[in-house]
Amino acid sequence: MQSKLPHISTSIFTVMSQLAAQHNAINLGQGFPDFPMSPELIECVNKAMKAGGNQYAHTNGVPLLRERLAEKIKFLYNVAINPDTNITITPGGTYSIFCAFSTIIQPGDEVIIFEPAYDSYIPNIIFNGGIVVPIELEFPEYSIPWDKLRAAITPKTKAILVNTPQNPTGVVFTKEDILQLQEIVLSNNLYLISDEVYEHLIYDNKLHETVMKYPDLFARTFVCFSFGKTYHCTGWKLGYCVAPENLMKEYRKIHQFNAFGCDTPKQIGIAEYMTNKEAYLSIGAMYEQKRDYLRGLLDNTKFVRLPSSGSYFESYRYDTISNEPDKVFAERLVKEFGIAIVPMSAFYQKATDHKVIRLCFAKTKETLDAAAACLQKVH
Ligand code: PMP
Ligand code: GLN
Repeated sequence: MQSKLPHISTSIFTVMSQLAAQHNAINLGQGFPDFPMSPELIECVNKAMKAGGNQYAHTNGVPLLRERLAEKIKFLYNVAINPDTNITITPGGTYSIFCAFSTIIQPGDEVIIFEPAYDSYIPNIIFNGGIVVPIELEFPEYSIPWDKLRAAITPKTKAILVNTPQNPTGVVFTKEDILQLQEIVLSNNLYLISDEVYEHLIYDNKLHETVMKYPDLFARTFVCFSFGKTYHCTGWKLGYCVAPENLMKEYRKIHQFNAFGCDTPKQIGIAEYMTNKEAYLSIGAMYEQKRDYLRGLLDNTKFVRLPSSGSYFESYRYDTISNEPDKVFAERLVKEFGIAIVPMSAFYQKATDHKVIRLCFAKTKETLDAAAACLQKVH
């Protein structure tokens, strides 16, 4: 058959997790917590199942969950969001982003993304008939080259995708960044997709700058979130999209005839659990401690840290150790040293290789100790 995605191969996360399993390696590759999620939240879902919450939920999501999300957004960001018209619950953050692309992209439209980039964006854009316009963040700070962004805009540009805190670099947008972005989006009549799945995973006293706080920019934006990141249950694949009513109306046409709805008992369970604000307010400090713990363990190695202030990833240069291409180095780390990581070139369309690896620190102290013991031996 004729492939719709001829140049797309297996996701690097699947590849690295498979390699880790094959070689019985510690897995700091694919991003997921290896510690248990909240037993109370599991209990809430159990209760919902036992109470019969097992049939189709409303296509837009369980109403109470959307209400709780609107309350949370008001509480955290002081933004008024209408749960009926502005929020749709989705089967995961990735789907939420895919649906946003499907809503806006017409064949031949250009969509700008920043690289290194989370791996689903490119295939999503291509699948929807769009043309990917990647802009590389400036190495090694991974800062945004605003002049290059301005220069990349053409009459065909339809949208920009941003991700803050960013996977894989851990870069966090400042207010000034959002204001620059706003000026560019508004003056060129673009749409914005804002991937904010790591909203709570933010460190060094930084604050999450959600696009929702900027009304003129939000008027053209789909903001995407993931319960998997917030509640340490990536396998649940539940997320949501927040958008202005006119955009959400079109978004829901796609969602309605794609997934239609999402897992009912988990929505009911999360709605109940969400009254516990501490559960999400404490995440930043918890992960910051993990990040700093891993930093401490790797301080006396030859790996050179590229600091991260968000997400559960931190990157390290290895050019003081080896000149191998990062994919070759990654394979050697699994096979010879028993540790799986993600080679940064996997996040670039052109496979740009700065000899950097991404580590996930969403792990127990024991896993981080074991991982560091492997990395300390690398030569
Ligand atoms: N965006 C980014 C940047 C991510 O890292 C992830 C996590 N995989 C997602 C979106 C999607 O999350 P989900 O697992 O809910 O689809
Ligand atoms: N977001 C995770 C990461 O970046 C994994 C997502 C996936 O496996 N699809 O590692």
